[in-house]
Amino acid sequence: MRLLLTNDDGVFAPGLVTLAKALGKAGHEISVVAPDRERSSVGHAITLTRPLRLWPVISGAYPEESSAFACDGTPSDCVLLAHEEVLPNPDMVVSGINRGPNLGDDLTYSGTVSAAMEGIILGSSSMAVSLNCSESDPEHHYETAAAVTASLLSFLEDYPLSRGVLLNVNVPNLPLGELQGIRVTRKGTRVYEGKVTRMKDPSGRSYFWISGKAEDDLVEGSDVWAVAKGYVSVTPVHMDMTHFPSLGALETNGAAEINFK
Ligand code: MN
Repeated sequence: MRLLLTNDDGVFAPGLVTLAKALGKAGHEISVVAPDRERSSVGHAITLTRPLRLWPVISGAYPEESSAFACDGTPSDCVLLAHEEVLPNPDMVVSGINRGPNLGDDLTYSGTVSAAMEGIILGSSSMAVSLNCSESDPEHHYETAAAVTASLLSFLEDYPLSRGVLLNVNVPNLPLGELQGIRVTRKGTRVYEGKVTRMKDPSGRSYFWISGKAEDDLVEGSDVWAVAKGYVSVTPVHMDMTHFPSLGALETNGAAEINFK
């Protein structure tokens, strides 16, 4: 397949480099266009108010036969520019492997998942891949997530996704042999306790830090549940955010007849 790879951790992040090497080895044609720095949690932002630059990355990081570019924009900028300038009509956009999970509602903040969404908007099949690791883990098993991605790509060649649907894939941070398997899941619920911490700067002024401890609702069949149990979580995500039951309810209740004059 002709693959466009991107991420939100930066063009030299280990997850992306590992993915490019593994998918190149699996026989795919690899083009990388990724942010020149970390852009995690920028969501689906695109840059409209300043020029964007795109330049080839010359480094031993990527396989010789692949092409790699850095861009000083967001992950979605990268996907957009790549479709125009580097690889029109890729067979698949693969975003990742993200350093850290994208589970529950976090996928709306995620630059990784948003890059896959941008691929969908541009008419390309897309998937986002994240490794459920944290900074403090002694090992980050990106090779595990890369192997899973290669297998999923083979599957998707035979069974393409519906138009407008991307896969959000989260892989436990384990050696390949220790994975329990794959679960097809729905988006779960992850709530952050103590999301905002107020602190004082050296001048005594308040500043704030957004982080918090993730609390998961481990409902069977959800993405958070699967990953907690050691399974790869594969969630099909639909780009149409319309809530169809409410469409009917609003019409039935006369929302279209509200008198505003
Ligand atoms: Mn990231």
